[in-house]
Amino acid sequence: MAKVILERLRKVYPNDVVGVDDATFEVADGELLVLVGPSGCGKSTLLRMIAGLESITSGTLRIGDRVVNDVPPKDRDIAMVFQSYALYPHMTVAENLGFALKLRGHDKAAVAARVREAAAVLELDALLARKPAALSGGQRQRVALGRALVRHPQVFLLDEPLSNLDAKLRGGMRVEIARLHRQLGATMVYVTHDQIEAMTLGQRIVVLRDGRIQQIDTPMALYERP
Ligand code: ADP
Ligand code: ADP
Repeated sequence: MAKVILERLRKVYPNDVVGVDDATFEVADGELLVLVGPSGCGKSTLLRMIAGLESITSGTLRIGDRVVNDVPPKDRDIAMVFQSYALYPHMTVAENLGFALKLRGHDKAAVAARVREAAAVLELDALLARKPAALSGGQRQRVALGRALVRHPQVFLLDEPLSNLDAKLRGGMRVEIARLHRQLGATMVYVTHDQIEAMTLGQRIVVLRDGRIQQIDTPMALYERP
């Protein structure tokens, strides 16, 4: 696993909108850090810069001990989970889980082993032959998590992964993600606009407002002096 270090990260979009300004913080090895704030505060911009899906205007981004500002997404050793699950509708769960590894040239046996492992962790074993259309929202979200899991990334980036689920499922998936985090000991950066989700899930919370960091603290400290 690896830490993620942001030093004065800034993103100015081509239309001169400042998406993120002067973001400096460190995600510790194995930490689950939550980025929270209202819509438009820069959460996605920040996460997408860490993922390499958005260019960095200025500042330095390190993953592990490497500066990755100019490293393409596929070489960053990260996996991202989106709110739209982005599953392939024509593929089975097993094929969805294995696809990224197959693309990367892993052989059949290795892909199958990783798919079995992820399916076991996420309790998807009984669903491997199904297509996404035959899954519930919660099951689809578990497959989306599984697709990140099979890659054994150093860092997981989660962009509002539960926002498409109804309130009841969301609680269950939150517990699932916390369990996964403990079990894997993985470094995770988790974006949400939901304060309750942030407070229950985050080991530390970064509060963003208008592209700037307003506060970085543990849930307990934020609760005591919000
Ligand atoms: P959040 O994820 O917190 O909702 P975003 O990171 O999406 O916030 O957006 C931060 C700011 O950057 C907003 O003002 C938004 O309008 C702007 N923004 C986001 N993406 C783009 C883009 N591709 N081009 C121009 N402005 C953008
Ligand atoms: P490749 O680069 O071999 O095509 P992927 O298909 O896994 O590998 O994806 C390329 C990049 O797309 C990743 O490195 C990552 O930045 C981004 N990505 C975001 N979310 C995911 C995801 N859930 N699964 C795979 N890749 C993702």
